[in-house]
Amino acid sequence: MNSDDRQAQVEWRQDSQPVSRTFGDVYFSSASGLAETRYVFLQQNDLPARWRSLAGGATFTIGETGFGTGLNFLAACALWHETAPADARLHFVSVEKYPLHPRDLDRALDLWPQLQEYADRLREQYPPLLAPGVHRLHFDSISLTLVIGDASAAFVALRTEHPAYDASVDAWFLDGFAPAKNPAMWTPELFRQIAELSKPGASFATFTSAGSVKRGLQDTGFAVQKVAGFGRKRDMLRGQLKAGEKPPGEPFSNTPWHQPDYPPLGSGIKVAVVGAGIAGAACARALAERGCRVEVFECGPQPGHGASGNEQGILYAKLSPQPGPNGDFNLHALMFAQRYYRDRCPTALHSCGLLQLGRSDREQILQRQVAERLAAYRGQTLARPVSTLEASALAGIELGCPGLFFPKCGWLQPRILCGQLLQHDKVRVHCNTSVQSLAQSGDTWNLETDQGTSGWDAVIVCSATGLRQLHQTAPLPLQPIRGQVSIADAAAAEVHIVLCADGYLTPAYRGRQSFGATFKLKDSSTDLRQTEHGENLAVLKGLHPDLATELTGREVTGRAAVRAATPDYLPIAGPVPDWEALAETYAHLRQNRKALIPTRTHYQRGLFVLAGLGSRGFTYAPLAAELVAAWIDGGAPPVDSALVKALHPARFAVRALGRHRS
Ligand code: SAM
Repeated sequence: MNSDDRQAQVEWRQDSQPVSRTFGDVYFSSASGLAETRYVFLQQNDLPARWRSLAGGATFTIGETGFGTGLNFLAACALWHETAPADARLHFVSVEKYPLHPRDLDRALDLWPQLQEYADRLREQYPPLLAPGVHRLHFDSISLTLVIGDASAAFVALRTEHPAYDASVDAWFLDGFAPAKNPAMWTPELFRQIAELSKPGASFATFTSAGSVKRGLQDTGFAVQKVAGFGRKRDMLRGQLKAGEKPPGEPFSNTPWHQPDYPPLGSGIKVAVVGAGIAGAACARALAERGCRVEVFECGPQPGHGASGNEQGILYAKLSPQPGPNGDFNLHALMFAQRYYRDRCPTALHSCGLLQLGRSDREQILQRQVAERLAAYRGQTLARPVSTLEASALAGIELGCPGLFFPKCGWLQPRILCGQLLQHDKVRVHCNTSVQSLAQSGDTWNLETDQGTSGWDAVIVCSATGLRQLHQTAPLPLQPIRGQVSIADAAAAEVHIVLCADGYLTPAYRGRQSFGATFKLKDSSTDLRQTEHGENLAVLKGLHPDLATELTGREVTGRAAVRAATPDYLPIAGPVPDWEALAETYAHLRQNRKALIPTRTHYQRGLFVLAGLGSRGFTYAPLAAELVAAWIDGGAPPVDSALVKALHPARFAVRALGRHRS
């Protein structure tokens, strides 16, 4: 696919209006785009009145077809701030097949000085690479879920196929180009997805009054009214999903092993988080930002005590030349993490840039393939290939090979960062408190620690390999991986960026530099080993022989910690099934692993896990925590349905059944 197939082809008319060359249609009314948005989408969905009467702490969700320039989104943000209670949350979910090049977005946003404050935030947050899939952006009390892809497929990708989790939209902005110019945006299939994602009574508004749109919406259960249109348009449509009129969707198109048998717990609940490493800190923060009251239980003396406690960690991901769950999650998790830390812990993140060195022929070929994939996205700024000369100039030291440079990556201060994430008025942290057991009593989880017992609506276990000590989470296949990082007084030559190949080297901080780390599968000891300093120095030699020689003579200290990894190297993020019930419900998968077994299995209501982050904890945790939070509050997920399943806690048990194993 070349870049022209997946990006907006925008032509700028003499009156500074953007027009789509692909569709021969305007992005918004040339009379006044903003006035049209306010009339058609905001007023005709009754948003001013609905938002003024919103309960404190509530979440309101808008669904949109066609994000375009983001004008509708920005106008909704402005109205939200004028009318909604301060502690309510707006979730804006929009799909876009042809995202605007950042340059066109910039120019379009300049047209609305009244919305500048929001436009600037959108410019800052706009993804550096507009890859297909789900992008989650945060603007304080507003979240934007932008799904890049064809509208119907994008909405399907947001669904778990569990009606109680899928139905989250309160109001729709139907804003594709005119039906006559873009019939693909107004199909019965799209209307069906819209109905599936709608809450009972959801409203919609659209600028068009085309008969096919009216009939399509009526056929999926909407009551449709024709009202006066904006400007020169005579009519437009608005309406509401009629109670109980949602057409029955296919109950299950796949075995629903990933769907809990209980509805979402909602926001504003009481949540206990076990573990205050980066997984626990990110979960606590995600839930607190949704209005939950969170308490975190950490057996160590402070947050970031275990594998998240090194002096310097790196923000890093391995991009893949092909689509697939591991590469896709790496890509989306990295982009999310960059925005996330920049907003929440700017002092603990040092975005100095990171260079992946192409040291071998094999690595250079792989990097070339990744670079080709990146080149298909015009204007992307996530990563770029650099020559040996440029790599050396960026690093500030002479390097012997080219590489792939990530300008917004870098290194971070793990312990400070975990502490900053936990600084939220809805979060309390109990250190030196060891969780001994969990017991479910009705809808409450009783958490027994060495300090006493407390009751919770939900518990998220984020204690890495520690989760094997709780029988409810013990079946999850986590492997301990020991990693020792080495730290030495900084080399004379100053390294400006993080260097990565088989290992990594950070720039100096307070006169010291970290390099490493070792990777010892199934080893859970944390003693410091001279042999492993030797291994780290050998890896450093591969990155830069002179630096390695210089540091070899120095006193080297370090830190060893145990990380937890899964067999497929993707994190575990989501609800925890009842293991015995799952084996029984899906026993037939032993005979036929592709069998459609159209029943949900029993889940341990209110129990969730985030674990298995391996050596990419700081990159993976923010997005994985956002996914856990979506499972809890029932909002649209921050990743597509393929990734929801690829990260699901039940996946290993289901795969094992398919391989005839109990
Ligand atoms: N809401 C936008 C705004 O505030 O600027 C204007 C939307 S514009 C009229 C229609 C948008 O729908 C365009 O950005 C176009 O690329 C997008 N689009 C067209 N066909 C699509 C499809 N099949 N799936 C998803 N998006 C599509």
